[in-house]
Amino acid sequence: MKKLTIAIDGFSSCGKSTLAKDLAKELNYIFVDSGAMYRGIAFFALQNKLIIDGVIHTDLLINRLDEINLEFVYNKEKFESDLLLNGVNISTEIRKPDVAAIVSKIAVLKEVRSKLVSTQQKLGEFGGIIMDGRDIGTVVFPKADIKLFVTADPKIRAERRFKELLLKDLNTSLVDITANLEERDLIDTTRKISPLVKAEDAIELDNSNLTRESQLQFVLDLIKERFNTL
Ligand code: C5P
Repeated sequence: MKKLTIAIDGFSSCGKSTLAKDLAKELNYIFVDSGAMYRGIAFFALQNKLIIDGVIHTDLLINRLDEINLEFVYNKEKFESDLLLNGVNISTEIRKPDVAAIVSKIAVLKEVRSKLVSTQQKLGEFGGIIMDGRDIGTVVFPKADIKLFVTADPKIRAERRFKELLLKDLNTSLVDITANLEERDLIDTTRKISPLVKAEDAIELDNSNLTRESQLQFVLDLIKERFNTL
């Protein structure tokens, strides 16, 4: 069977990664959370004091992009990949509010995007991949076999993210999360380079009232219908 490329885009906290992980498990494909990579660069900028009083020193960051090596390594105990920055596991750090607060401002930078897009394209060169993000169906894999554009009610999205962070013991509030999601959605949809838009050939999936199992089934049925397989 042909190894498919599946692109999942959508607003922040729509459950894209959950769906992508479930699909990857079901199909035995690679899963790549492209947002984690942008978060990795944001973390590097914070760690190296390239952000002072909330101002990103973009020239300094751009000059140091070659020092950043991001790598996903499968963690058997967690059944998911950890993100390593120059060999150090930063999976927990990248979910923290300080990273969430600046990641979209870093993701507007042309140099950052071209570094990450080329890494993402390499990861997907042999197919058998599910990648989620904001520009996967439009820029990273414009010829993806299946493109999904996931949406959900903003209130439900904020509540989901709040619960997720509580489970990870990351201290935050629903008000702060709601504000961060709104701000990131605005920056992501209005930026000049690769803004978040629904690809013309993407299927829209509103999962506000869907269970994890039913959204997975929706996509499996779609694959079956299109590729006469599974
Ligand atoms: O998916 P996640 O919410 O972790 O992504 C964090 C941020 O990274 C997004 O708000 C967006 O600014 C940026 N991003 C992007 N392009 C992608 C994935 C994420 O610009 N493909």
